[in-house]
Formats: sequence, structure tokens, C-alpha cells
Amino acid sequence: MSIRDEVMRLFRLQGESAYHGEAVSQAEHALQAAQLAEEQGAADSLVVAALLHDVGHLVQGLAEDIADRGIDGRHEDAGAAWLARRFGPEVIEPVRLHVAAKRFLCATEPAYRAALSPASERSLQLQGGPFNDQEVAEFASNPFAHDAVQLRRWDDTAKVPGLAVPGLTHYLERVESASLEGAKR
Ligand code: FE
Repeated sequence: MSIRDEVMRLFRLQGESAYHGEAVSQAEHALQAAQLAEEQGAADSLVVAALLHDVGHLVQGLAEDIADRGIDGRHEDAGAAWLARRFGPEVIEPVRLHVAAKRFLCATEPAYRAALSPASERSLQLQGGPFNDQEVAEFASNPFAHDAVQLRRWDDTAKVPGLAVPGLTHYLERVESASLEGAKR
């Protein structure tokens, strides 16, 4: 299956599912995040990362036994694993780090944490809470830390019920050219 078909299939099968605890669907959330990235002039690879940052939820939603009710499903790792077979590090790494970026921001920006939605504050606890000083330093030294923090801010904003944004087809060209199959052409 081509990468376009794979992404369209995931959005078709799982896109209408609720974005945990928020008033938007997974597809609305993904499309709003991608739109924010595009609006702010992000590189194509980071727009694609924003679009697919919660692909772990879509993939896990398809899996028959989701063992982890009430514990953190580590969707960032599931997403990164799915992306790793299809994209390069500039797409994979910001996605892998987007939960770490939240823990980083909660440790370094009190206003950031204060503005978290109730669902996001609840999941923060499951995700391990704000980083300690050593974790903050480690995160900051990662070459993809900046991209991950940007992605995180779009993630937090992409929760507006009923917002009109471009659809999935708007991004498929960039999905394809960012993909490994695109890189080979
Ligand atoms: Fe998200």
C-alpha cells in the first residue's frame, strides 16, 4: 500500500474517534495541528510530523487488544515505531518527543502548565509529571528538542471544536515526498 493510501486508510478508519477528553475528533485534531504548523511556516517534514503526531493513537485504535486502560499507552512510541518504517528522523523524532516536550515545558514554563486542558493535566501524571533538572538538561540537548516543543504547542492548540481547516488531501503530496518512498524517487 502506498504511504498516501495508508494514511488515508488510518484517517478513514480511526479519524472519527474522539481525541481523548477533548471536544474534537482525532482527524480534526491532526488537521488543526498540521494547519498551525503550515501557518507558522514550518518545514514540510514538520508539517507532516504535526499531521501524524498522534498516529500512535490511530494505530493502537486498530489493534484488537489495547491492554493499557488507565495506564499510559505510550502512543508517542507506537507512533514513532510506525513512522520509523516510513519516514526519516525529521518526521519521527519530533513525534517521539512530543510527550517529553510537554514534560519539559511543564518544568520550565509555569504558565504553560497552568494553561493545560483538564485532560492534558490528567495525562501529565500518567506520563511521569514534569521533568526534573537532569531530564530538562537531557531533553534540551536533543537536536530535535526545538521541533518537538513547537509541535507540542500546536498539539495543545489544535482542539477547537468545529474549526474549518484544509482536509487530509491538502497534505498528501508532502506526506509522500517526506516518506522514504518519496526520498527514493
Ligand atoms: Fe495530540
